[in-house]
Amino acid sequence: MNYPRITLKKGREKSLLRFHPWIFSGAIEHISREIKDGEVAEVTDKDGNFLALAHFQNSGSITGRVISRKNEAIDEAFFKAKLQQAWDLRKTANLARNENTNVFRWVFAEGDGLPGLIIDKYKQVAVIQCHTAGMFNNRELIAKAISGIEEAGIEAVYDKSKEFMSPGLEKEGSYLSGSNINEIVMENGLLFRADWEKGQKTGFFIDQRDNRQLVKHYSRNKTVLNTFSYTGGFSVYALAGGAKTAFSVDISKRAIDLANENAALNKLESNHTGVAADVFDYLKSAEKDEFDLIILDPPAFAKSQRVTHNAIQGYKRLNIAAMEKIASGGLLFTFSCSQVIDPVTFNKTIFSAAIEAGREARILHYLSQPADHPVNIFHPEGQYLKGLVLQII
Ligand code: SAH
Repeated sequence: MNYPRITLKKGREKSLLRFHPWIFSGAIEHISREIKDGEVAEVTDKDGNFLALAHFQNSGSITGRVISRKNEAIDEAFFKAKLQQAWDLRKTANLARNENTNVFRWVFAEGDGLPGLIIDKYKQVAVIQCHTAGMFNNRELIAKAISGIEEAGIEAVYDKSKEFMSPGLEKEGSYLSGSNINEIVMENGLLFRADWEKGQKTGFFIDQRDNRQLVKHYSRNKTVLNTFSYTGGFSVYALAGGAKTAFSVDISKRAIDLANENAALNKLESNHTGVAADVFDYLKSAEKDEFDLIILDPPAFAKSQRVTHNAIQGYKRLNIAAMEKIASGGLLFTFSCSQVIDPVTFNKTIFSAAIEAGREARILHYLSQPADHPVNIFHPEGQYLKGLVLQII
């Protein structure tokens, strides 16, 4: 193939040989010609031995993201083969062709060997998000490859990338194929309206599927508080599991309207209360011992290493506030989706929250992300979701 060539400094090929998928700017010795953002480049060691093909990006410290370890054409057939592999994994995980679940993550970036690309499947609609110029430039090819996987039965491909691309590009997404099918999706037999056009992320927080199932398991006869509820995922599961009552609290009125709608879709609205409010204010004014089960699933408090300290303080403050309001013997499901907060740091943060709240606590479960968010073992950065289930005494 006739790709521009990136030659690495001596010794800097080691991480690539260990299957790590990133090339940092400091590792580069020489570039054969000017490479535009998003171009495919051939990466070699100092002696010219081929290592990988990578999407190139000038901005940021990650200059290259490996998309293939073979010198091959990056075309529709390439993407189709990768998508088929990812699809087969979802079959193995009993997600594809599961009659109770038709919403799942089809491609999870590095975890599926496609850095910069997310594809979520919402029944017959695939929603794609490109986080790199390389994937963004290939979005039409990717859409064709998606439609080419016939067993997936995709009728529309919606591109939600633009908010991640350079400033100046308009923010709205667009359909690359098909048109809006107003979808109600099913997850573990429960129904949800997923709004990929206007909603957050690709429309639904698919990564909490297994953890929601665990909430269902523990909810019988409980008074449940679901904070940062978004469209009420955890609340619907809690009610389906026999909760006495469930409160969904989110600052977004639109999210709460959808949470109410989702409770109704499952005929569970009579025990559901949606509250559009700030969680910190809500917890402050709540009664002590009011709740038997509290879920804390805040947005990422730390988006970069630099702000880790503030984020830890934020998680601690939030967990103290919840621990102070939970009934004795009650359960706390507490999460962090900040990639830069590692599981050990998260556990320590919750530990200090328990000290400050003056409550005894025991850990019942260590939670993470589900199988459709696989982590490439050579790229531990792919693990971002952490959770603990605690009994507060
Ligand atoms: N648990 C949800 C996903 C949570 S996403 C699910 O399973 O679907 C984080 C949510 O927190 C967003 O919906 C956002 O609107 C909300 N949010 C952010 N800051 C908030 C605050 N201070 N008070 C209440 N909600 C907040």
